[in-house]
Amino acid sequence: MTRDEIRELAAFQADESKGACALSFYLQPDPPQDRSHRREAIVAKDVVKQALKSAAASGKNGSLHADLDRVLDLATNLRGNGRGRAVFACSEQKFWREYELPPHLGGTHIYLQSRFQLKPLAALLGAQPALCVAMVDRQRARFFDLRLDDLRERGAIVHMLSRSGSNYGYNGYEGGHAERRVAEEALQHFKAVSERLRTDFEKGIWERVIVGCQDANWSEFESNLHPYVKQRLIGRFSADVASVSNEEIRDRAGAVLNRWILERGSKKAGEALDFAKSNGRGVTGLRRVLQALETGEVQSIFLADNYSARAVECPHCGHLDAHLVPSCVACGNATRELTDVSDAIIPIAIRRDIELFCFKDNDALDRSGNIAALLRFRSDHKTGQVAAAS
Ligand SMILES: [Zn+2]
Repeated sequence: MTRDEIRELAAFQADESKGACALSFYLQPDPPQDRSHRREAIVAKDVVKQALKSAAASGKNGSLHADLDRVLDLATNLRGNGRGRAVFACSEQKFWREYELPPHLGGTHIYLQSRFQLKPLAALLGAQPALCVAMVDRQRARFFDLRLDDLRERGAIVHMLSRSGSNYGYNGYEGGHAERRVAEEALQHFKAVSERLRTDFEKGIWERVIVGCQDANWSEFESNLHPYVKQRLIGRFSADVASVSNEEIRDRAGAVLNRWILERGSKKAGEALDFAKSNGRGVTGLRRVLQALETGEVQSIFLADNYSARAVECPHCGHLDAHLVPSCVACGNATRELTDVSDAIIPIAIRRDIELFCFKDNDALDRSGNIAALLRFRSDHKTGQVAAAS
């Protein structure tokens, strides 16, 4: 799933005046040890049938019915491969997207709303960088893009080494000479790979990189990495480039990435909470987070994964208010109530490239109202002064 695809979902709005509805379906796969029980398909069918019933009961038919039928069809013919799945549909507006996702979606659910439900994705999105996975050995390099569990090979470099010294059948000088030549060729190869990483980074193809290579090659390869690239390296895993499968690359790199996101998220959340008390570059609680969003100050948002709060939204100017006021304080138009304000916050974060972190257990965040934000800068509206961000 690419960033543009996520943005497209975040921008979607069903035209309720035409009875359109945005359907979001998430399928949580069975854990690997239960794969044979096929529980996921049974649960999925139940969830869709329930939705069909309640749609019929509330008089929502037509296009929604067609979407639900299609999802039911998908659930019925599901061949579980251990991956999560999501469908976003609105046939009234000719929209249907299907994605495979990491298997941590927190349950199988269907949502029928005016916007797509992106909360289950938000936990995975957690500021996903444009990630390059470079698989490197002494004569090969393969470059992959990894986006939300979708691994795509982008290119490769191959420098076949000369036959190694021991294969020559010579001893002494000849053998040593050949070995030195092979070592020199490997060094040139590492330099070429490093150069390719640097130019790809400068072209904006990736923002962070993970390297997969054999332990024996790591220190030599690492010492040839350009400093820019090294700064962007978030981890390494051990793998044999000649034999590793794409699934293994995806899973190993995914694990490195998740660990990095989690550590980075907790560190930044800690900063936001500290800054909220000291220099003002952090805010806590819904009211202040909404205010900061409106003034364009937010760099990162931190949510407890069970966070939910009522709020109102102005359909006219988009103003969000934590107070359930009947008319918009910005433009005076009638507001509409949101049962969960995160349904509005998450798409905003996605559209504006604000990093979004969801936490399962973060006591400090829980004590601060379950929502906080780190700010880019602090504008003081009373005096018009702007304090620079560090
Ligand atoms: Zn308004």
